[in-house]
Amino acid sequence: MELDDLIRPNILAMKPYSSARDEFSGQAGIFLDANENPNETGLNRYPDPYQKEIKRKLSALKGVAENRIFLGNGSDEPIDLLIRIFCRPGVDSILILDPTYGMYQVAAAVNDVTVIKAPLTENFELDPETVLSQIQRDTKIIFLCSPNNPSGNLLSKTAMQRIMGNFTGIVVVDEAYIDFTDDPGFIDELDKYPHLVVLQTFSKAWGMAGLRVGMAFASERIIQLLNKVKPPYNINILSQQKILNALENPENVKTAMTEIISQRSWLREHLANHPSVEKIYPSDSNFLLIRFRDAQKIFRELLSLQIITRDRSSVLHGSNCLRITVGTPEENKKLVEALFEMT
Ligand code: PMP
Repeated sequence: MELDDLIRPNILAMKPYSSARDEFSGQAGIFLDANENPNETGLNRYPDPYQKEIKRKLSALKGVAENRIFLGNGSDEPIDLLIRIFCRPGVDSILILDPTYGMYQVAAAVNDVTVIKAPLTENFELDPETVLSQIQRDTKIIFLCSPNNPSGNLLSKTAMQRIMGNFTGIVVVDEAYIDFTDDPGFIDELDKYPHLVVLQTFSKAWGMAGLRVGMAFASERIIQLLNKVKPPYNINILSQQKILNALENPENVKTAMTEIISQRSWLREHLANHPSVEKIYPSDSNFLLIRFRDAQKIFRELLSLQIITRDRSSVLHGSNCLRITVGTPEENKKLVEALFEMT
């Protein structure tokens, strides 16, 4: 299907918000166009709506053209915008994996869009035929989360490619946790799959969840659509400055990541023989999914010691699982001690 046939007609027809500065800022030294306060505070001006400086640096880092990058208020923002661009409320559907990250379903519900769920296998692997068999006539987007949350594992690349090669709608690959793996992810395959959108984030490996900045990489046309529907100033000036600073030293991410991965192994080793632990699932991310004999009891006891974890039993159809984020070495030690004290 052509991209234009996938876009909601009202989105295709609408005129986006634009400011005088979008067009003429190069010619101006006195800015009387945006009803700002003229007194210099460092924050009195609106931020760059298209974050051009950040995209210049990201382009060099990721090897993607600037006009194929979108920045959002977390990667949660492009998830919502993509559903709004492509899915007609009350008519269209998205297809997601089961289990997977919860926001796809929430964003679909907000937009009155149906959610179809394709189960992963017992070991949370992707069976492309199961996914392809669930596609309906009005399915517009398939969300593939790799590494997947809450299971933690990378999905098979060939299985994902099989889906991309056999679905005419939009495929979103959510790579929020990709920096915790050696896998190059799908950014390099954007040319091969014109309806592919890759999501990444500054919230995890970059350690800046509080800034709320996420990235989408896609064709120039899809990026234009995201820009068309986004709120004009969706990344504030302080966040833009912090991201620019972080991009000066991208090697810091590698260092932090190595430490987290080594702590992940430490946690796995130290919990493997715990009497209440039934299974620790393979993880390519910064968390472990652990099946306990009684997850709710462990959750409550940890909470009474002020350690909060995430009980994922309900989204795992009653399987007794906690999702536990890898913390600092001290935090991880406390977690292990707490768990062994409660046996
Ligand atoms: N995708 C996945 C798979 C996630 O787990 C998360 C956060 N938990 C996000 C996207 C959202 O990240 P953010 O909005 O902070 O970029």
